[in-house]
Parts: sequence; C-alpha cells; structure tokens
Amino acid sequence: MAATDLDQIVSLCKRRGFVYQSAEIYGGFRSTYDYGPLGSLLLRNVKEAWVRSMVQQRDDVVLIDAAILGPPQVWEASGHLGNFSDPLVDCTNCKTRHRLDKLEDPDTCPECGEKNSFTEAREFNLMFKTQAGPVEGAGADAYLRPETAQGMFTNFANVLQTSRKKPPFGIAQVGKSFRNEITPQNWIFRTREFEQMEMEFFVPPAESEQWYEYWCNERLNWYIEHGIPADMLILRPHDADELSHYSTGTSDVEFKFPWGFDELEGIAQRTDYDLKAHAAVSGERLDYFDPQTNERYVPYVIEPAAGATRTMAAFLLAAYDEDEVNGESRTVLRLHPRLAPYKVAVLPLSKKDTLTPLAHEVRKLLADRYLVDYDETQNIGKRYRRQDEIGTPLAVTVDFDSLDDNAVTVRDRDTTEQVRVPIDELLSTVSGRLGF
Ligand code: ATP
Repeated sequence: MAATDLDQIVSLCKRRGFVYQSAEIYGGFRSTYDYGPLGSLLLRNVKEAWVRSMVQQRDDVVLIDAAILGPPQVWEASGHLGNFSDPLVDCTNCKTRHRLDKLEDPDTCPECGEKNSFTEAREFNLMFKTQAGPVEGAGADAYLRPETAQGMFTNFANVLQTSRKKPPFGIAQVGKSFRNEITPQNWIFRTREFEQMEMEFFVPPAESEQWYEYWCNERLNWYIEHGIPADMLILRPHDADELSHYSTGTSDVEFKFPWGFDELEGIAQRTDYDLKAHAAVSGERLDYFDPQTNERYVPYVIEPAAGATRTMAAFLLAAYDEDEVNGESRTVLRLHPRLAPYKVAVLPLSKKDTLTPLAHEVRKLLADRYLVDYDETQNIGKRYRRQDEIGTPLAVTVDFDSLDDNAVTVRDRDTTEQVRVPIDELLSTVSGRLGF
C-alpha cells in the first residue's frame, strides 16, 4: 500500500530529516527545499542509480558536468529565449495567478470558483536571468540553465573528439536546473530549483525511431526495477498539440501521484534540431563523418529527461507502507536497497560500556563498504521502528551473547525476521541480502 496522501510523506520527511523548508528560521522561502541528513543521501542514491544504469552498465554513454551559468547565445539557439514560456493568467476576483495550460476549466478560477474572472493570458519566460561580472549591460547577461540538455549539445564536438565514441552514443548529465515556475506546487514535485538526470543519445537519422522505442522501454523499466509497482506507472505518448517545437514524438513516464498520474520523465525525439540550431548560431560544425560509409550527417537525438528531485518524491510515495508487527502498527519505507539512505543500522542492545567497543568494531567493518547508521539510545523496539520508518533494509543488533559467541542478529526491514550470523560472515550475509 503506497501513500495516498502527500502529507503522509511530507510530515515523515520533516520529522525524520529528509526534506526541510528552505530558510525556515526566516519563515521559509516559498517552494524551496533543503535536503537533510537522510534526504541528501536518498537524492544522491537516486542519481547514482541513474548513472549506474545509464553510464556504468553500458559502453555507449559518457557522463559530463557542464556549467550552470550560460551566455544568451546558448538559449537563443536552443529556443529558450524565444519559446520557453508559460501562458499566465490572473484572477481579477481573488488575485491568484495560474498557468492557463494547467487549468482544468480555463474559464473558472480553481481558487475562488469565480467564472470568467481571468485577465488576458501573458507569456512569461521561465528562465532566471542574472549578470556576469560587475558591469550591468547587454554583454553581461547570463542565465541559469533551465535544463541540463544544452550542455550536451554545446559539448557534442568536444566529446566526439575526446571520447572515441561514434553514433549511436550518448552524453549524460545530472545536475541542478532552474525555472521561474509560475505555480510551483506539490512539495518537491514542482520547484524553481530542482535536479535533472538527462541523456542525449545521438543516432544515425534512419535509426531514430527504433532507438526512441528502445529508450521508452528502458526508462519505464528503470523505475520498476527500482521498486515502483508497475501499476503505478504509465507511458503516455503526447498528442500532436502537446509536442515541443523541436519534437516529432514524445512519451512521458507518469507516476500515480496522490493527485493523479503526472510526469516523472519525458522521452523525446528531438531530431537534429538542437545540433543544427547551435551550428547555425555558433558557426561551428556540429556533425559526424562516418569513415566507413564516407558520409557526413547531423545525428538525430533521443532524449530521456528525468527529474531527480521529483523522482525522489515518487520513490518515497511508492515505498510508504503501514502494517502491524506484534499487534503494534508501524510505518515502513520499503525503499529499494540501492535507494535507501542507510543500508544497515548497527544497534547495540544496551548502552553499557561492555557492548560499545564490539558494536563500533561491527560498525567499522560495515562502514567501509556501506552507509551505516549507529544508534544506541532508546529501547530496541523503538530503534527498529525508527529504522523501518527511514527505510533501512537491515539492522544488526549486538547483544551480550555477542561477546561470547562472536555473532550478531540481523533483522530484515520488510519481514522483521531475525537470524543469528557470525561476525566474520556478516559482510557476505549483508551483501547477499542487499544484492550488492
Ligand atoms: P512539466 O510539464 O511538469 O512542467 P516539462 O515537460 O516542462 O515538465 P521537461 O522540460 O521535459 O519537463 O524536464 C524533464 C524533467 O525534469 C521533468 O519530467 C521533471 O521530472 C523535471 N522537472 C521539470 N521541471 C521541474 C520542476 N519545476 N521541478 C521539479 N522537477 C522538474
């Protein structure tokens, strides 16, 4: 059973240190969040799981880390300066502002229910503009990137020359993006500062349809492999009127959020639009010469573009569960072991000095390979509950018998089953249970 109400996750995340309101001591900065001790680990694990599947386990994708600040030419070529805007309307009755394209009924204000109270729609550019250097003026204009994708296009020739890759191959990137969203909402689902995981896959034009289908399937399966039940996901092809200006086909991976199915990731056929646009504005050649066929061509691009922060919300919602253990109700996050902030908790049965040295030895043994939480306060039952609630797959208890038999108890988060394991077999037991 997943969470049915966003508040279940929001309050768990605040209580346990996953996500805090940003600048909370100053009353909070609207729709901006900080990731706490557990959230920062979970978010990092989401990104690492993506890099593992998209780069590490393949031989045809490389990773880059491009700048966040960029000059206007990049955004002129990409179309963001001209096209990257949302239609914005104000309600003249209650003074709230809305995105026209996201309204259920374009004539009724969702806030106050007034009919025909909207102003004319205005186009609002979503990019954050700033200035580079001390002098203001046109030459100093700079923008915070609204997507990571353009870094892959502007570095296409660099990567081609230095990586020994040839189409079909991909360039991947994970990092922050910024959009001045008109209606940021639903916690970390839509924020003005967020993280993306994007990959541009460059292919011979004739192969683009087949690669598009391939990436749609790969990406849908990635979420299922990492623990989201298949019935909470759909792959939704865009209608013709939804397509971006550059795209000949796009499908969204959508997750069943408490408010309905909504986007986690878009997989788009971007054709040769971006490379041609950057070639035209920069005057540089952005194509590929195939020495085997003696042909020169501009590759087509398939782009799986996901949000790391938004995906983290989906993983949390899907993992949330409540059940009963020994007649007591418990909350448990059934996170995939790769995503769980801590992989193992080491819990000495008592705080007594006699147990502490051995418990720390066990912690050190595991911490060399895994993120380990060490907790010695409160009774053991409460400590198990806490680990269940933060999604730790395994708990290792060091008790007084451990001092004699050199063994510990390993408890499983999902089944709550406990087994006794000799300390010198602990690492292999843990790695067998976690799967890595
Ligand atoms: P939406 O329709 O929700 O505004 P989009 O179609 O504009 O999203 P893309 O430009 O395709 O989004 O960006 C790729 C991914 O980046 C999205 O699928 C989403 O996961 C993430 N993303 C985009 N905007 C935001 C945001 N404001 N906050 C959090 N994640 C975002």
